[in-house]
Amino acid sequence: MHLNVSQLMREPSGSTRHHSLDDTVVSSEGVDEIKIVADVKLMRTLRGVWISVKAGSDVRCTCARCLVEYLQPIRITIEEEALLSEDVAAGLIDFDEADEPPLIDENRELDLSDILHQYASIATPMQPICREDCKGLCELCGINLNEMKCECNTELRDPRWDVLREVVSVSES
Ligand SMILES: [Zn+2]
Ligand SMILES: [Zn+2]
Repeated sequence: MHLNVSQLMREPSGSTRHHSLDDTVVSSEGVDEIKIVADVKLMRTLRGVWISVKAGSDVRCTCARCLVEYLQPIRITIEEEALLSEDVAAGLIDFDEADEPPLIDENRELDLSDILHQYASIATPMQPICREDCKGLCELCGINLNEMKCECNTELRDPRWDVLREVVSVSES
């Protein structure tokens, strides 16, 4: 997802541009592809361009309970300042190295692909659940309990209940 900012870079700070994007974004490693619908606002700053992004995407996730693949909707908000790569290389700009700002290359192209991927991965849940009431897999026979029922008596075999039962019987005796 490339945006040419050469015209904007010639304008005074405070000048803005709006872009509506609907695209498939590939990270620089070229592995993941995500579809992104984004509203991008760019504003010329003294050092570069301020990027404000509001975006949405559906990322492919595997449910932590039932192990089924599904599309998880995510929202992304980005507020970052992109700097000119040649200024950064020449040490003209003072910034925290750890921040790794997005860069505008020598052709005045701003590539949003990696930053969108980075924010998308942050917005993706660590323990994705396909739906709030996902019943998961039967821990004994492994069938997907969202799709069918089984005859297993998991409540009696669940070791966590054994501990609880012991506690109850000890306190009762
Ligand atoms: Zn699930
Ligand atoms: Zn079962």
